[in-house]
Amino acid sequence: MGFLDKLSDGIANTTKDLGELAHNATDITKLQYDKKIKEGELSRLYERLGKKFYEENKDSEDEVVKEITATILRIKEISDELMEKKGGKACPKCGALVKTGSKFCSACGEKIDDIFEE
Ligand SMILES: [Zn+2]
Repeated sequence: MGFLDKLSDGIANTTKDLGELAHNATDITKLQYDKKIKEGELSRLYERLGKKFYEENKDSEDEVVKEITATILRIKEISDELMEKKGGKACPKCGALVKTGSKFCSACGEKIDDIFEE
């Protein structure tokens, strides 16, 4: 086999190898993507199960349940503080900011009776 034939075969094999590598890389990328999608689904399923479990066991003495309750209360406190800093309170129906003294929520139209009475 002459030099040019060897060179030609070499190039052909390299091209074939590169093709396989590219194909393999595509498979790897697709599998990594599928894995990420499924991991995301699993996280959402765990979250749903966790919320369901929490709703059914709010009064439990379980440490995580107690921690969730404390976190929910803290979020509510922070949210109230935020609304106060913005000059109002959260609408009891939709949670939007209702400016102090308003009679209705400008977001959902809820009649505001007593949230500003202290
Ligand atoms: Zn509202």
